[in-house]
Amino acid sequence: MSKFSDHNFAGEKVLVRVDFNVPLNDKFEITDDTRMTATVPTIKKILSDGGSAILMSHLGRPKGGPEDKFSLKHLVKHLSELLNGAPVLFANDCIGEQAYLTASMLKPGEVLLLENLRFYKEEEKGDEAFAQKLSKLGDVYVNDAFGTAHRAHASTAVIAKFFPADKKMFGLLMNAEVASAEKVMHESQKPFVAIIGGAKVSDKILIIENLLERATDIIIGGGMAYTFMKAEGGKIGNSLCENDRVQTALELLDKASKKGVCIHLPSDSIIADKFDANANTSNAPSNNIPDGWMGLDIGENAIEQFTNVIKKSKTILWNGPMGVFEMQKFQHGTKAIATAIAAATQNGAFSLVGGGDSVAAVNQFGFADKVSYVSTGGGALLEYFEGKVLPGIAAIKE
Ligand code: AMP
Repeated sequence: MSKFSDHNFAGEKVLVRVDFNVPLNDKFEITDDTRMTATVPTIKKILSDGGSAILMSHLGRPKGGPEDKFSLKHLVKHLSELLNGAPVLFANDCIGEQAYLTASMLKPGEVLLLENLRFYKEEEKGDEAFAQKLSKLGDVYVNDAFGTAHRAHASTAVIAKFFPADKKMFGLLMNAEVASAEKVMHESQKPFVAIIGGAKVSDKILIIENLLERATDIIIGGGMAYTFMKAEGGKIGNSLCENDRVQTALELLDKASKKGVCIHLPSDSIIADKFDANANTSNAPSNNIPDGWMGLDIGENAIEQFTNVIKKSKTILWNGPMGVFEMQKFQHGTKAIATAIAAATQNGAFSLVGGGDSVAAVNQFGFADKVSYVSTGGGALLEYFEGKVLPGIAAIKE
């Protein structure tokens, strides 16, 4: 594996797998360009070295053929703006004659954006012949798409075998993502707290199981905490509960105590009489919620309890909100946890925030630059912390 920052791309045509799967509104305007801006430094380095960049990505979930609403042509203008006006050409097919011809005539400093890879069903199938056709477009392969690193697709993994070891590498974004995930997973300074929240226990079982091997403390908040409360014999009213996971929750608690990992459940909750932004609210112990009421955020005691754990930690991983943070009445817990993580980071802890909703929360509350790293990869980061090998990483490292 070659190192991107040490490589001089002068005169090379660099095929870059990016994650430009950005949300578009009904006028095809980009409503959140985070995924594009995240990979701009990689593209700029290639261009400033005197190379040219051929960018490939998927967008949305096309049904196996071209669909205008999923065309990457909608991104061309904004991409050129992000690259300070660099010329961005577009090929309306990711393989085929036009793509090859345009790629071969590309001059140093120019960018070619290819049409949506998923217009070919071969992409998601990881088809070798399709991967080989893509590989012919460039001299060097750079993977900068951490968001799809957990997929063994043609452009994210299979393609790597068509490039020699010194001509395939991670881009700057991918490198930063992998480095921060590895730092938490393999080089965590102790105490190491994992803060897991969100709605569903079922989504987080594997990650909790894997973290039991590594973390000192696991904080469980959000809707999933009530399944654990019920497992411990608590009364949870109408709070979210996955009855078919109560036994699993019990087993996780048991495993944790055998391994000496402290699991922290919220001692109290902000409760509501309905799931509504204007609901009546009160406070109750999380294991004694009155009938007809539901826990929608962690309470003040739980905030203090969790903050004390976060304060003493040297490594912090956060995935999932502490409450229904989309509603103002139930965002205090998530905000308070973000504040505690920011303070711990200021005091020298390494903090990694990842997974869709906790990233949305740190952005919404203005904490993104107060934590050590905010991951762009939701599903990929989760799978990494579940202990799975990510095909996009393995393909380049091997
Ligand atoms: P997830 O995608 O599993 O990380 O869950 C995120 C969602 O969980 C967010 O939309 C939150 O509103 C929701 N959530 C967090 N806490 C609760 C709660 N106590 N009750 C119901 N939903 C919750």
